[in-house]
Amino acid sequence: MKRNKSTALFEEAKKYFPGGVNSPVRAFKSVHGAPLFIKNANGCHIYDEDDNEFIDFCGSWGPMIHGHNNPAIREAVINTVENGMSFGTPTIHGNKLGQLMIENHRYLEKLRFVSSGTEAVMSAVRLARGFTGRSMIVKFDGCYHGHADSLMVKAGSGLATFGTSSSAGVPEAFANETIVINLNDLQGLEDTFNHYGSNIACVIIEPVPANNGLLLQDTSFLVWLRKLCDDFDILLIFDEVISGYRVGAEGASGYYSVAPDLLTFGKIIGGGLPVGAFGGRADIMSFISPEGPVYQAGTLSANPVAMSAGLASLKACLQNGFYELLEQKTDNFVAQISTHIKMKEYPMHMVHIGSIFWMAYSTDRIISADQINPASMGLFKELHAYLLDNGVYLGPSGYEVGFISAAHSYKSLEKAASIICDGLDHIFKK
Ligand SMILES: *Cc1c(COP(=O)(O)O)cnc(C)c1O
Repeated sequence: MKRNKSTALFEEAKKYFPGGVNSPVRAFKSVHGAPLFIKNANGCHIYDEDDNEFIDFCGSWGPMIHGHNNPAIREAVINTVENGMSFGTPTIHGNKLGQLMIENHRYLEKLRFVSSGTEAVMSAVRLARGFTGRSMIVKFDGCYHGHADSLMVKAGSGLATFGTSSSAGVPEAFANETIVINLNDLQGLEDTFNHYGSNIACVIIEPVPANNGLLLQDTSFLVWLRKLCDDFDILLIFDEVISGYRVGAEGASGYYSVAPDLLTFGKIIGGGLPVGAFGGRADIMSFISPEGPVYQAGTLSANPVAMSAGLASLKACLQNGFYELLEQKTDNFVAQISTHIKMKEYPMHMVHIGSIFWMAYSTDRIISADQINPASMGLFKELHAYLLDNGVYLGPSGYEVGFISAAHSYKSLEKAASIICDGLDHIFKK
């Protein structure tokens, strides 16, 4: 495969951007070669500057549930753009998207739009602190919530309960307000609540943890978490930036029928443009300015162009049978690869929910981050290179999940699954 143009552009990009990129995972640090510069995309295909074609399973990291260059979303954006880009005032487009989201979600009573998932989470956490008057928060190891200071925290070493910052530039004093627990660690959570409960504002979790592998939890864990939070008057935040509109129109909260107090959204709700949102219980949301004392604002929040893209995206999601078909396609795709893995007895398995999938390089069920063997990522690195050479694009890290879109045809999926099976034969033969 020729990659001359991408390679040259990446060399140039290094002059302008740290590491040559504007978001770190794009740099291909954990896989072979230079990142691809994508020129255009259509349906389930992306095309790079060297004119290579790939079946895409990255989907811009999640937003492209309708595939690339979806005509309805494109038309909606163009129509809105023709009337101006942003006014810094309320617009009818915001009302429409807000109404559609609230009317179709049993746990969403009020919301506010922002411009990214990070901003949504940062604002929701501030709101939880403002509402409860408490400062500590609890998060889970292996869940990603964007890069706000309070969330750039990993588990402390040894007996330390308090987190330590996972990025330079985050003061330890901030990190100490965040407690990090293993997913599914009921005892750890109960101990923490018993000890610090009256200081804890909220627990934040990806109810479908999909940023560090796909660490699917038991429904009973989420139900139990809801109850424990109630017992201690601690708010429960579901970070649904990936799972929202991905595992069904009501996201993971609807999927598991567990009611969070607050939810965060991003990715799909922008249809490919920068949109985030946080919302939930109306009594809590009334603490947001100008109604309440928790400040939150945004120059481009709910700008009409992004709202129009989001509206077109969600309308398409809400069509009858949309998720059933997507899930059926994903089941087929995953089954094709799983059958091959079992037949060849490769030490791995496929994990999937809705239209999200992940290859786990272990035969054990993996439900917490510490179960993933970092050494297994060497296999992914070789697989990734093989797949690129053969026209299949996965996100450039074995910790990333894959996304299937409505634009993936059965035929493209069969082709991709067959290339992936060949790729597995290739890496396990080595
Ligand atoms: C992507 C993501 C974020 C951050 O969203 P950005 O738009 O990248 O800031 C937060 N939480 C989860 C669960 C995500 O997947």
